Amino acid sequence: MKYFFLILFSLFLFTLETSFSQDQKETLNFYYKDAQASMQEGNYEQANSDFRKILKLGVKLPSEMPYLFSKTLYEIGQYQNSQSFLDKYFEIMGKAGTYYENAQELKKLLELQLNESLSCQYCDLSGYRLETCLTCSGEKQLLKKCDYCEAKGKVSCTACSGDGVLIQLGAMGNRSYKTCHQCQGKGINQCPVCEGDKELFTYCPNCLGSGRTSTEIICNHTEHN
Ligand SMILES: [Zn+2]
Ligand SMILES: [Zn+2]
Ligand SMILES: [Zn+2]
Ligand SMILES: [Zn+2]
Repeated sequence: MKYFFLILFSLFLFTLETSFSQDQKETLNFYYKDAQASMQEGNYEQANSDFRKILKLGVKLPSEMPYLFSKTLYEIGQYQNSQSFLDKYFEIMGKAGTYYENAQELKKLLELQLNESLSCQYCDLSGYRLETCLTCSGEKQLLKKCDYCEAKGKVSCTACSGDGVLIQLGAMGNRSYKTCHQCQGKGINQCPVCEGDKELFTYCPNCLGSGRTSTEIICNHTEHN
């Protein structure tokens, strides 16, 4: 039933191309809320699936999300990916993060797990050989130009179609003009997707920011397999 609504919701979003960025934000909020609710229920598989969908949107992520995703990945046993998101969390938020204390605890838990099983740097925790991620070429994150504003950082105002004024028709058919409230008459607004930066960093959705992905080759735990 849950999936049925998800599908309906996605279909609904596809039909509304005119306010694309708005929909992306709504989609993000939708999955972000569901992920957090799933974590509270202890349903980390569902949370994992939600977070991955958010990554695929390629939009700016909520600042606390790296910790929440890291915790989720820890719970489902993906310790290396968990580590990379935890590192990212400390890098972005420092001590200012809401989950700073929790993140410190998670760091200790991860150290235990990784020390036990990470004797070999060439394989994942199940003993499968790792290779450089093909999507990001090992860069861990992708810097992409903002498609929404075509890397201009600004977009034409949607309220006044860029005219800067709104036309109102009076009862007698007379027209009155007033300055557009959304753009203050400028006709342009800051791009809502990149927030004026013209480009945005997104985590690689393929390797989840670790730069490497597992193969199906069993590792011999030496440099050359
Ligand atoms: Zn990658
Ligand atoms: Zn306007
Ligand atoms: Zn933009
Ligand atoms: Zn190995």
